Parts: sequence; C-alpha cells; structure tokens
Amino acid sequence: MKKRFVYADNAATTKVSQKALNAALPYFTELYGNPSSIYSLGMNCAKAVLKAREQVADAIGAKANEIYFTSGGSESDNWAIRGCAKLGEKKGKKHIITTAFEHHAVLHTCRYLESLGFEITYLPISNKGIVTARQVEEAIREDTCLVTIMTANNEIGTIQPVAEIGEVCHKHGVLFHTDAVQAVGNIEIDVNKMNIDLLSLSGHKIHAPKGIGALYIRTGIALPNLIYGGAQERNRRAGTENVPSIVALGVAITDAVKDITAKNEKVRKLRDKLIDGILKIPETRLNGDREQRLAGNVNVSIRGIEGESLLLTLDLEGVAASSGSACTSGSLDPSHVLLALGLPHEIAHGSLRLTINEENTEEDIDYILQVLPPIVKRLRSMSPLWERICKTENIHDYTLD
Ligand SMILES: *Cc1c(COP(=O)(O)O)cnc(C)c1O
Repeated sequence: MKKRFVYADNAATTKVSQKALNAALPYFTELYGNPSSIYSLGMNCAKAVLKAREQVADAIGAKANEIYFTSGGSESDNWAIRGCAKLGEKKGKKHIITTAFEHHAVLHTCRYLESLGFEITYLPISNKGIVTARQVEEAIREDTCLVTIMTANNEIGTIQPVAEIGEVCHKHGVLFHTDAVQAVGNIEIDVNKMNIDLLSLSGHKIHAPKGIGALYIRTGIALPNLIYGGAQERNRRAGTENVPSIVALGVAITDAVKDITAKNEKVRKLRDKLIDGILKIPETRLNGDREQRLAGNVNVSIRGIEGESLLLTLDLEGVAASSGSACTSGSLDPSHVLLALGLPHEIAHGSLRLTINEENTEEDIDYILQVLPPIVKRLRSMSPLWERICKTENIHDYTLD
C-alpha cells in the first residue's frame, strides 16, 4: 500500500471547514468594522455576530442571549467554574463536585479553588470510564454549589449520563456545568432536556478556527463578569469581538449538528473496524466502554511499548495520532484519565488514541491497520519491558517469532 497521510487526531483539533473559512474571510478584509460602531460597516458586523450567536444557540437548544463568546473551551471552563464558585461562596457554599477524569481546564481550575479554601470531591469513574448520577447524588452536600462533569471524555470518548446528572443537581438546587467540547457535533445536545445550567464548547474541535468558543449560561444565573471593560457579551466579557472566528463558529456548529445520526453511523463503522483490527495484536486492550463512546474515538493500550515512541514511528509512516491528550504530551506522566480507569502505570504509558471523523475513509483505516502491527512488533522487539512481561507472565510472543 502506498504511503499516505492519515489525520487521526480530531480530538486534539480539526481542520477548518472550507465553508467556515469562506464565511469568515470577508470579515478580515472588506467587512472589518467594529460591531460596536453605529455606522453601517460596524452594524453589519454586529449583525453577523448576532447571527452566529443564534446559530450556536440553536445547535444546543438555547436562546441567543444565553450564549457568550469566549476564546475557547479552556476559558469557558474557567469562567463557569470560577464564577459559580464565587456565587457559592456568597452563600457560604464552598463545595464542588467533579470527576477524576475531567480535562485539565476543569481539574486545574478546581485545584486553584482548593487553594482558596474550596473543597472539591473528585468522583471516581468506573473501569469503563463512566460516572453515574447516583454517585453525584450521594456526594451532594448542604454546601455544594456546583457540579461540573464533562459530557464526553476527550481521551477515551466515553459519554456520561448528563441528563440524569443534571436532574439530580436540580433536585438538590445545585448548579450543573458540563464541558461539552468533545460532545458538540457528535451527540445531540439540548441544554433544557439535559438539565444543563452552563455548557462549554470550543470552535477548533468542530471545524472552526482555534481561539474561539462559547459558554452557555442559563437565563437567571448571575455569573460574575469575566473581563471588565466594554459592553460586549452583555457586559460580562469585555473586548472587541473576534468577528471572523465568531462567524466561522456559527457556520461550523450548524454543520456539525446536522445529520449527527447518519454521520455517526458511517464513522462508527470505520471505528469498529479499526478497534477490531488493533485488538488482533496480542496484549492490547480497548480503554473505555465500547458502546457508550463517541463514534470516532479509539483508545487502546498496547503492552510493552511506550506511547511516545509509537507516535513518532507512526508519524514517520504518515499517521498523526496521540497518546493521552495533546496537553499531556511533552510530559512523561501517564494520562490521568487512564490512571483513573484503574490501569497500572505500565499499561497507561503504552496507550494510543486515534480519533477519526467523517472525513476519514476506509483506505485510511486499512492503512493504519497495515502499518501499526509491524511497528508494534519492532518496538516490542527492542523493549526490555516487553521481554520482562513475556518472561514473567509466560506470554508466547509470536510477534518476535
Ligand atoms: C480541547 C478541549 C478543551 C480545551 O479547549 P480549547 O478551545 O483548546 O481551550 C477543553 N475540554 C475538552 C474536553 C477538550 O477536549
């Protein structure tokens, strides 16, 4: 098979769609007005921002005036969690519930709040990567001000029972925030049906540019302002709007939520072929529940090899993949998500995440399945760890035959 380039890291970022790019381009050039200006050049930009706000709202079942544009998922997570913490503090409620496998934008914000005297409960996840509404209910206390649990995990793709979790939160009068950065466009989201009070989303995971995102804040929640200054974003996040990116986000999210079922059916087929193919390699395991997972997510542990060397070798073959999340690469710590699943360090280290989408083809999958086994074989043949595993556990390593 001829060498090709296969992008299988869509959970890290996606390519900007041609449609989103085309929609954005005029706002760099002829439509360069400031949306706050009163002459037509500015007004036209304000109209474009409003249209995008409506598009984002429609995509998640919200109202346009509940959508606040931000610089992305991390900012939305920070604003939501720190804001709700402040609201809670005013009422003497300084307890927050989250999970052990959130994105670092959530976990590190919680750590920061701990330094301010907040108490955080990090719920454990099951060995399949799921947390239950019952766990949440049991953890809620008199002084709980916020529950923040992601809709879908970025590393293992597991989908959480968000509607039930939201229901439990509302029953107890606790605010519910969800990081839906990986979920938007991959599963249907309706903030009302799912009892969500605040929701974070990001443009670059759904074919819009990097550096744009949004926070949904349910009407009536007096979340403190994020940036003081001008009157943009209903006075809550000052600064001249990133008009081209906002326009692109509106277009991209509209496309992303269209025909989710049909899109997923196609992607799931490719993913299942990929999973089945990889699991034929001995001493591999799928991480995260097989059914309750995003259509395009594959996360496997391959014993006896080290994730980083695997990624570098795959790159030489033209395959862009990841091990853990993009944010943990460059660090030698194993992924906190895989450790939360209960995997030992040795196995968490040798993990491979392939995240495909509707742009991937059957040829891409066949190519990965062709190049991966010989790479694993070669890396294992050089691995003292693999040799030790084979000896101590009496594994007959046919890859070395
Ligand atoms: C990518 C990602 C983020 C961060 O979004 P940015 O726009 O890159 O700041 C947050 N949460 C999850 C689950 C993500 O996958």
